[in-house]
Amino acid sequence: MTLGRRDFLKGFAGVAGLTFLQPSGMVRPTVTSTDSGSQSDVALLVDVSKCIGCWWCYAACKNYNNLPETIKPDPEDPPKLSGDCWTTLFALQKGDGWSFRKQACMHCTDAACVEVCPSGALRYNELGFVQYETEKCIGCGYCVEYCPFNVPRLESNRITGIGLMHKCTFCMERVTSHQQPACADACPTGAIKFGRRLELVQEGKQRVAELSKISPQACLYGEHEMGGLHVLYVLDDCPSVYGLPEDPQFPVTAIIQKDVFRPLTWIVWSVVAAGLALNVLVARARQVRKKKEVH
Ligand code: SF4
Ligand code: SF4
Ligand code: SF4
Repeated sequence: MTLGRRDFLKGFAGVAGLTFLQPSGMVRPTVTSTDSGSQSDVALLVDVSKCIGCWWCYAACKNYNNLPETIKPDPEDPPKLSGDCWTTLFALQKGDGWSFRKQACMHCTDAACVEVCPSGALRYNELGFVQYETEKCIGCGYCVEYCPFNVPRLESNRITGIGLMHKCTFCMERVTSHQQPACADACPTGAIKFGRRLELVQEGKQRVAELSKISPQACLYGEHEMGGLHVLYVLDDCPSVYGLPEDPQFPVTAIIQKDVFRPLTWIVWSVVAAGLALNVLVARARQVRKKKEVH
């Protein structure tokens, strides 16, 4: 199945409407308040063997998140993640053709970005993914420094110079109102599937068993990495071939940042604040004493 440039532009223009439609036969997880723990976690299952490189997920993400429009990218020069691009395709030439892996935030269970974020802009959502509130971002860049997948991008405002981090939000407003993420909704081949994480893990394993018959290196990526990713991958080759770290690790320095430097920062600020308060009290006492002496 191939989709031309016209299809891409048509898809881009129509995606805003499309994303609010629920194609028939698509199973949606129903999120209820009675769900608890990892049973309620949602996820995306990305199957590289089904991806045709149409870039509709990329277009849908831009459209839904009001990011600047673009033409259909060239796989030889795919766009990089940036403030204007929260998902892209990792393109891999295989023989005469191409293979693609949709690339964005992995929504880790043990997310270094959440642990080091000092402002609370990054937090674990009760549905398992990592939610991001831009208005709380202070542009410190710790998440950029510690993410093991090199996902967050920090960009400065040209006028104010204030930094702001950008990354995939897992379409939080959609997902928490019983819709699937825009990219999953736009994918014409079912290469991106949204659902309950536990069910997607089982589905991914079954798909890997099928693929293993022709691709012995096939594997499921994300079941256990970083405590379990909320973007799982069915790969027909080794993770490193698709630009993924074979064994991503939670950076030790992130733990130091969280458990040592962050509390220290609060202690320093508390001491400074206490010092200022004391200064004000002493100055006030002096003023009162002077007034008494004059009278
Ligand atoms: S991939 Fe990086 S930015 Fe995304 S949740 Fe994991 S640590 Fe955070
Ligand atoms: S989940 Fe939403 S924000 Fe993330 S890549 Fe898909 S469309 Fe973009
Ligand atoms: S994941 Fe789906 S929408 Fe994205 S490029 Fe592949 S086939 Fe197209």
